[in-house]
Amino acid sequence: MQEQLAIIIEELKRLRYTGVETVYIADDTLKLLQSRLAPPPKITRERVLPLAAQKPSPTSTKLEHPSQTKPKPKLSKSLSVAPVPQKITVKTASAPKASHSLPDPPQFSLPDGDKKMQMEWLRKHILDCPTCKKNVRPNKKIVIGVGELDADLFFCGEAPGAEEEEVGEPFVGPAGQLLTRIIEAMGLKRDQVYIGNIMNWRPETPNYRTNRPPSKEEMSFCLPYLKAQLEIVQPKVIVALGLTAVNGLLGYDANRKLGSLRGQWQTFETTPLMVTYHPSYLLRNNSKKVKRIVWEDMLKVMERLEFSISQQQKQYFL
Ligand code: URA
Repeated sequence: MQEQLAIIIEELKRLRYTGVETVYIADDTLKLLQSRLAPPPKITRERVLPLAAQKPSPTSTKLEHPSQTKPKPKLSKSLSVAPVPQKITVKTASAPKASHSLPDPPQFSLPDGDKKMQMEWLRKHILDCPTCKKNVRPNKKIVIGVGELDADLFFCGEAPGAEEEEVGEPFVGPAGQLLTRIIEAMGLKRDQVYIGNIMNWRPETPNYRTNRPPSKEEMSFCLPYLKAQLEIVQPKVIVALGLTAVNGLLGYDANRKLGSLRGQWQTFETTPLMVTYHPSYLLRNNSKKVKRIVWEDMLKVMERLEFSISQQQKQYFL
């Protein structure tokens, strides 16, 4: 049971970090969380109703950044208080910490040569990196970007998950399958784009099954490797998938919300960068509206790359 609770709590922290603000959870799970969360959860009554007026409604667990926590409403003693629904504010640190400190980020220059030679050199350099080797889980692989070295389009994700560290390739698990569908819906094949990650190893967690977003320190360490891949590929457009990719490429900001940038053009050095949701967010949040939003972001990318866009593509839903 402790292990299951740890998994739920890790997932809630991860969701909050990726920009999710509200999740619905079963009453039983909520009770378990309440008994486990320390310090005791701040519970604010969303509604103060006479008992007779109570209506069952889904329990909402709202994940908020500490700076956005609203003051608790005062409860009137003369009214009965509905026992549910309850709103829990889960306060998490601004960014997760790696379990040990890392050396300064690597400094290197790419050798002269063509793209293929440069990428082969870089791959070897990353695979030989002592810090990557130390941090990759036992018997798992360091993960480096893959794809077309002359690609116009560069997708950047967060960090390898369980499937990726097994295979040694980014986006091969469920989120990767969805990313491949998105790429194909754009009229491309997966091997016509380049796909990379902020991180080259899967961030360590106490539990093998859980993932966590990388810490600021982990991101800074791996960033030179991602930047070198961008320097080789020189894409016309970068798509940042989720908040970690945005924080890595645009500079770390613990208070940044994905929603404030999503769908808008930014710039990485001189390359246009489109911000959109991470495919794992789409997998968790199976809403047509969010899928359409991501597709609209991809239509903007297609326009920027001067693709001819069919009527069917314009109306498409992922
Ligand atoms: N999520 C990512 O951000 N990257 C991967 O490679 C897989 C899942």
